[in-house]
Amino acid sequence: MHPDPNTVWSNCLNYIKDNISEQSLKTWFAPIVPIKLDNNVLTIQVPSQFFYEWLEEHYVGLLRQAIDRELGMEAKLEYSVIVDKGNDQNQPFTINLPTGRSGRPKRPNGQPQNLNNPFDLQSLDQIQRKSHLNPQYTFDTFIEGDCNRLARAAGFAVAAKPGVTSFNPLMVYGGVGLGKTHLVQAIGNEIKGNVRDKFVLYVSSEYFTNQFIEAVKNNRVQDFTNFYLQIDILIIDDIQFLSGKEKTQEIFFHIFNHLHQSGRQIIMTSDCPPRDLKGLEERLLSRFKWGLTADLQLPDLETRIAIIQKKMQADGIDIPGNVIEYLAYSVDTNIRELEGVVISLIAHASLTKRDIDLELAKQTLKNIVQNIDSEVGIDFIQKTVSEYFDIVLEDLKAKTRKKEIVIARQTAMYFAKEYTNHSLKSIGYHFGGRDHSTVIHAVQSVNDMIDTNVKFKSSIEELKKKLKMRTF
Ligand code: ADP
Ligand code: MG
Repeated sequence: MHPDPNTVWSNCLNYIKDNISEQSLKTWFAPIVPIKLDNNVLTIQVPSQFFYEWLEEHYVGLLRQAIDRELGMEAKLEYSVIVDKGNDQNQPFTINLPTGRSGRPKRPNGQPQNLNNPFDLQSLDQIQRKSHLNPQYTFDTFIEGDCNRLARAAGFAVAAKPGVTSFNPLMVYGGVGLGKTHLVQAIGNEIKGNVRDKFVLYVSSEYFTNQFIEAVKNNRVQDFTNFYLQIDILIIDDIQFLSGKEKTQEIFFHIFNHLHQSGRQIIMTSDCPPRDLKGLEERLLSRFKWGLTADLQLPDLETRIAIIQKKMQADGIDIPGNVIEYLAYSVDTNIRELEGVVISLIAHASLTKRDIDLELAKQTLKNIVQNIDSEVGIDFIQKTVSEYFDIVLEDLKAKTRKKEIVIARQTAMYFAKEYTNHSLKSIGYHFGGRDHSTVIHAVQSVNDMIDTNVKFKSSIEELKKKLKMRTF
């Protein structure tokens, strides 16, 4: 005879009732509806994700005891969470989550129990090998500099002890092409090198979203969720892509909570700090604050040189030092762009059967700079402005408060703000480590001078022309 879920649940309630206050019983247990009992798994429906979390946080022990008494130690509890109330046309949208101790889908003999993966119906063994990591993105190939020291160190700590450090989740943010994907994949590769049996998965937020949409279409949201709940280290890239996608955020929130609660590691990237992520729900943002947020800045000249050297070394290509310096100096927007220029140069050299030298580098850069880079870099602005005002470039970054130097410095900051994508903080950093309020003040002063001083105004116009005619 199959036990009936209603009877089982009402027996559970009898036990629970003796252990909590009447008020708590009414608030947290009365709204629960037993749905089914299959293979010793009791599914209960709860009215919201908040409910689910509250129960898991406060009553999981009690629930477990009640279920143990009724169905035995092997029994499991699953929640069916009503995420969306539904309407006449649509059924309520629910997801099921296993609970507490038995929360993790079991893998007897190392084999997955649940092979229902909505993406490609392979066995999990195959999936496990597919972490979607690029093996070239390692810590070894990730050059350390001031721009990435904290993020790199945090990543390294996470790789050594995934899920155990307080860096969970680890959120890495920074502008495009600054190494976010490389760094988080390095963490994944490192973990896989250390421990074989961990399930590491790298996924872009876009891919995650598309998988979820597919799963909804095919009525396989449960499979989708189950798949993600088996992951030990979830790396999810470019989280800003989830902006405004409410349903995807909803499911991610559940997966996030569940993985986090059971000590699995979550690693995320974003193109801006979490507080600036628009269109992401507050409760999701507040989760991101549980761990560590570390940023990647634009690398300085020395780091850019080191990055090119390392790449060339890896590819077995020899480029003269002065060419590397020239390229690193000229391209200060981001690393991806810098790499693009280096690759074009190599291609150019091999096509024209010429040696790589400064002349060829200048030509190559001239050809592509207009295409790839409509903005000028801070280094170039500083050089141009200091030449124009006839001062020593280093003084722009020094402490000196001499009037003509202050004006030149403020002018260079003004152009850095106008012509580059650098944040105020980053601009300050490029001017001898000043803080962002100094940059704001500089922009203000320059605007004031433009309004009140005709001569200064024409200097600015001239400088604009020079900066726009960016030639090398
Ligand atoms: P993002 O994800 O932030 O847009 P990527 O991780 O794709 O940037 O990095 C762009 C390119 O720059 C990649 O080829 C990457 O290997 C390289 N790169 C970024 N940071 C570093 C670094 N610190 N050392 C070496 N290469 C780097
Ligand atoms: Mg990326």
